Amino acid sequence: MTQIAPQPGIMDIALYQGGQSQLAGHAEPLKLSSNENPFGPSPMAVTAATAELAAMHRYPSTDHQALRQAIGATYDVDPAQVICGVGSDEIIHFLCQAYAGPGDEVIHTEHGFAMYRISTLAAGATPIEVAETERCVDVDAILAAVTPATRLVFIANPANPTGTLLPMDEVTRLAAGLPESCILVLDGAYVEFAEGYDGGRALVAQYDNVVMTRTFSKLYGLGGLRVGWGYAPLPVIEVLNRIRGPFNLSAQALAGAEAALQDVDWVADCLRINAEERSRLCGGLRQLGLGCDESAANFVLARFASEAEALGADQHLKDQGIIVRHPRSYKLPDCLRITVGRPEDNSRVLAALTTFKETA
Ligand SMILES: *Cc1c(COP(=O)(O)O)cnc(C)c1O
Repeated sequence: MTQIAPQPGIMDIALYQGGQSQLAGHAEPLKLSSNENPFGPSPMAVTAATAELAAMHRYPSTDHQALRQAIGATYDVDPAQVICGVGSDEIIHFLCQAYAGPGDEVIHTEHGFAMYRISTLAAGATPIEVAETERCVDVDAILAAVTPATRLVFIANPANPTGTLLPMDEVTRLAAGLPESCILVLDGAYVEFAEGYDGGRALVAQYDNVVMTRTFSKLYGLGGLRVGWGYAPLPVIEVLNRIRGPFNLSAQALAGAEAALQDVDWVADCLRINAEERSRLCGGLRQLGLGCDESAANFVLARFASEAEALGADQHLKDQGIIVRHPRSYKLPDCLRITVGRPEDNSRVLAALTTFKETA
């Protein structure tokens, strides 16, 4: 048996739990559990990816030049400093694989995204969890946890599942305070939803050890297509490209993502409605006596009085055909994370929580 044992650390990985998507007794449940775009995929992406299907006998581009150029134009970054991955999850994975191994430490925060720990353990390194303060990343706590063995620090900003945004001056203080031997990864899966925040792009230009990751899975509605990217100093890009599979992205995925960047009117509508509905949802939750931090993302975190109340509300929502996320594994057992849906979806959520509160 032990002759085929996996590398140390692998069996310490808890299997990733995705957002639930099915509900017994409900043919078409309202799925607000995975922060997907409630309006579906970018229509231009669907057209482009579909057109590419007929050429599926061809291998795709290996350098992703066209997509990197398009990303550069949209986000004002140097295409040479962009690497594309199978979702930004793959970029996180590359970073751990390339920079952390046995004996090394990788910092993530208390309520941080599950992939940081998974990719750290997969690389044989040791995940170090740092406390947050009131569901916000705490820069002083991170800096205090850094040791000579620290190789990577992961923060998502805006954060998932809390939705909180660390102000730019705090992000800058973190970048400035880390030793040069340690890479700061700014996971920007939700950056587009945060007004006035660009993901810390300027820090990547300023520091040799700051990397930003981004995705097409949330705003652009392409979670199923699997396209993400990283923006990093050139030496880091040259490292990551050595472990990237030469054909990691399909031609369909590349074409879809490139087209989504051109879908500017649709994207603007999605952003506008998300901002309006996010504040309506949060306001509605507060009116019901629930806690709700200001969210800078496309979801809100509802805080209940106890885990029992959160589970009761979760069940009540399910009874009405609505699936949200109970973030117990993120150490938020008294909360429910609710993706901002279409206006009618959010009205349904608020109506269901109102009857829950009335009958509880
Ligand atoms: C959704 C999400 C991602 C990325 O997902 P991909 O689909 O792999 O791009 C990354 N980080 C956080 C915090 C997320 O919530």
